[in-house]
This record gives sequence, C-alpha cells and structure tokens, in this order.
Amino acid sequence: EPTLVWLRRDLRLHDHAALELACRSGAPVLLAFVFDTEILDALPRHDRRVELIHCALQELEAQLRERGCGLIVRHGRAREWIPQLMAQIGATRLVYAHDDDPFALTRDQAVRAALPLGVQVESVQDVTVFERRELLTGQGRPYTVFTPYKNAWLKALQAERAERLAERTPQLQQLAPSPLATGLPSLRELGFEPTDLDARFRGGARQAREQAAEFLHERLHAYAERRDFPAQKGPSYLSPALRFGLVSVRELARAAWARHDEPGAAIFLSELIWRDFYHQVLHHHPGVVDGPLKPEYAAVQWEQGPQADSHFQAWCEGRTGYPLVDAAMRQLARTGYMHNRLRMVTASFLCKSLGIDWRRGEAWFAEQLLDFELASNNGGWQWAASTGCDAQPWFRIFNPVTQSEKFDAQGTFIRRYVPELAELPEAAIHAPWAARPIELGGLRLGVDYPLPLVDHAEARGRTLARYGVLKA
Ligand code: FAD
Repeated sequence: EPTLVWLRRDLRLHDHAALELACRSGAPVLLAFVFDTEILDALPRHDRRVELIHCALQELEAQLRERGCGLIVRHGRAREWIPQLMAQIGATRLVYAHDDDPFALTRDQAVRAALPLGVQVESVQDVTVFERRELLTGQGRPYTVFTPYKNAWLKALQAERAERLAERTPQLQQLAPSPLATGLPSLRELGFEPTDLDARFRGGARQAREQAAEFLHERLHAYAERRDFPAQKGPSYLSPALRFGLVSVRELARAAWARHDEPGAAIFLSELIWRDFYHQVLHHHPGVVDGPLKPEYAAVQWEQGPQADSHFQAWCEGRTGYPLVDAAMRQLARTGYMHNRLRMVTASFLCKSLGIDWRRGEAWFAEQLLDFELASNNGGWQWAASTGCDAQPWFRIFNPVTQSEKFDAQGTFIRRYVPELAELPEAAIHAPWAARPIELGGLRLGVDYPLPLVDHAEARGRTLARYGVLKA
C-alpha cells in the first residue's frame, strides 16, 4: 500500500527528511502538493511568492517526470484535499515535515482528524536543525536569550553532529507513477497573475542549490566583513530558498560547521542559529503572533490617527525623507528582498522614530517579503521594538543618518534605489536637508524628494517618553 508524502515548505528531492523516511519502508511513494486556498485567498493577485512556488513545482515536476513518475497537485483546502487524496490512492501512510506556524499546526491537526483509523501519520523535523523542546535550559525552560541558546545549540551539535546534520538521501526508486498526477495548473488557473519575480528565484531547487554552492565556495570566506553593507554582495540571499525548502538547512549548516573556525563560516552558522532560535520562540510562545512577548510592553501607546496613517504610508512607499530608509523600503517593494541591516534600520525607524505600532510594519513586511517567515519576521520586529526575546533595550534607538554613514558610506545603495538623489555628493546624501544649497545641485527638497517626516532628536525624545511607562 502506498505512502503519500505531502510537500509544503520542502520543495526539493534531495536531503529531504519526509521523503527519505517515506521511501525507507520499501512501499511505493507518491508526492502531493496543495495550493491551499486558506492561504492563497488572502493574498494579492500579483504575489511573487506564489510565482516562486509555482516555478519551483514546475522544476520539481519536470524532474519527477524524467523519472517516470509525477507530482499530484491540487488547488483548494488542503485539510480536505489531503484526506481525499489518501482515500483515492488507497494510501495507509502520510508523511510530512513539521511546520510550527500556528495556522499550519491547526490545519495539520484537522487533516489528522479527518483521516480514518488505521492510517499512519508521521511528521518529521526538516525545517530547522534543532526545534521545539529539543534545547532547554538546565531548569527545563525555553531559552529567551540568544547567546546561551547558541551555546547550547553548538554543544548539542558537537555531541551528535554526524546524525543531526547527516544528509537525508531518499531512495527515489520508490517513487511511483500515479494517474492522479495530471500536471500543474497555470498561475492564472490558480487565480494569480505573473509578476516581476527576479530570474534568480525562478529556477527552483536546482538553481537554489547552485546559488548555495556559489555562496559557500566564493563568498562565505568574506561574509564576516561584507554582510553588513547593503551595497555589497555580502549575504547569501538564500532566505527565500530556505523559506520554501529549495535548499536544506542541513546542507548549509553542514558546510558552515565544517569551516566554523573561520570567522565568515562561524557568523553564517550563527545566523542559521538565530533562525532556529526564533522558531523555538514561536513554538513556546505562540502568543507573539499578535502581541508583545514581554506583556508589560502592551502598555506602550503607539501613535494613531491620520498623521500616523500618512507617516505609515510614506514609510511603506519609501518617502520618509531619510535616504537610507527610503532606499531600503523601495528595495523591498521592487524586489521582495531587504538586506538584514536595513530591516533593522527601517523597523526601528517605524516604531522608534515614527512611534507606529510594530505590528503594522510586521504586516507590511509579511505581505512584501519573498522570504516571509512568521517566526523570523515576528522575532525581528519584536527585537526592533524591544518587546521580544533578547531584544534591543528600549532606550537604544538607531539613528538613521549615522547608520547610513556607517553602512552605506559612499551612498552607493541609496543611489541605486533613490534615483532622485543619485547626483548628490557623499557629504549630502545621508541627510540632504542638512546639506549646503550648493551640494544639493538642482534638487528641490520637498518637491523632488521629501523633507524628513520627523526630526530625529525630537522623535527620540518622544520615544523615550513613550517607553517611559515601563519604568513606572
Ligand atoms: P544571510 O545573512 O545570508 O543569512 C543566512 C540565513 O540565516 C538567512 O537566509 C536566514 O534564513 C537566516 N537568518 C539570518 N539572519 C537572521 C535573523 N536575524 N533571524 C532569523 N534568521 C536569520 N528572515 C526571514 O527569513 N524571513 C523574514 O520574514 C524575516 N523578517 C525580518 C524582519 C525584521 C524586522 C528583521 C530585523 C529581520 C528579519 N529576518 C527575516 C532576518 C534577516 O533579515 C533575513 O533572514 C536576511 O536578511 C535574509 O537574507 P540572506 O539570506 O541574504 O541572509
């Protein structure tokens, strides 16, 4: 009797925990993916992520066809389709990888409940290296501070490295053809329109693996020095691939661990550990989805009303008058990606310079980011707003001009995304309102490019007062 492997955020065939487990028993294995309308219905018709997934499935399907089997693809409610497919196939075993997003947990529970007795359901770890309750403090509690978590992570890895990071190679000869594998619906048939998704994200797992290899061989050695400067090709740009499982986190962690005595590899590994950290935060504290992790921060009063709304709009559109913030927000809108340093700068700017509720920014990022990941996005926002685990202290407020001078000293990144400012000299590009008229050339502030929405020093004072309720 066949086994069904339900693909979700693991759109590849290599180093694949669920597939490897399913194939191990020797029974025929079928693969299914459901375009889940419970997720899709809430998305705009032009959504780069849906197109990225569609491209990845095209590539996966072609690979499967070459092997003489197919991919079963359905469009509708996954909680109904999966039990239905199980019945149609006559499968007695369902295998999939854990997904700790609260929506996914509820959906998976519903699928389990809808399956008849006697069907075996197995879910396996694949998304992170360590997860859930695997790493706890000496008192058996979840970690809330990153450094001790990281130390525990490294210690545990050291102890069981061979097994933890071992490649999960599926016996693909177990994959069987199915009459239900009737091809992939087009994007339009799914109710979506083609987007301007970058070619880098159109090649599915094959292309993502090449990009990972390029990063690991050519750029990992310089990661420590370059990763903080948005104009440089410093980071890996693998976050969308990790989000949808086009690469396996084990293969990246394996490569980084093998070289962790080098600074680049050690810091890259540390970033992967942040990813695990935020996943376990979400697992232990699902309430972070709509509120501060530290309950006392619920007392902070955010700006509301028409001015806050118009500030929020200007932030979304990259019209705050702070060049680095605007360049970053336009990078996000134009490409679906934003550099990590700039996520910190723009998030801090929203909640600590404009005084706007971090949840509004979180929701905007969730809509725009190609790599949107609830755990990391929420963790990043709560970090910036000082409301989360191991967050910035509330009195630490990024100065967007200093950040700009430090991390985009020549203004190369700003010029790339804010063409109005392309001709400004270095001396004027970080804070054009403070420049001498001669330095502005023909640029008319307030006409060609906005004046700053707020004065940083004043905004800082208001923020300290706003967070001051916490001292009471
Ligand atoms: P690299 O520097 O090459 O890092 C490698 C990988 O490590 C990343 O792909 C990512 O999986 C992981 N990683 C790196 N930094 C972090 C971090 N701080 N937290 C968790 N994982 C990390 N990351 C997301 O994947 N999805 C999100 O929705 C997301 N939202 C964020 C929101 C805010 C406000 C902030 C401050 C950070 C957010 N991050 C998010 C974390 C980080 O900015 C991105 O992972 C990173 O910029 C992705 O680019 P990269 O793959 O080139 O990173």
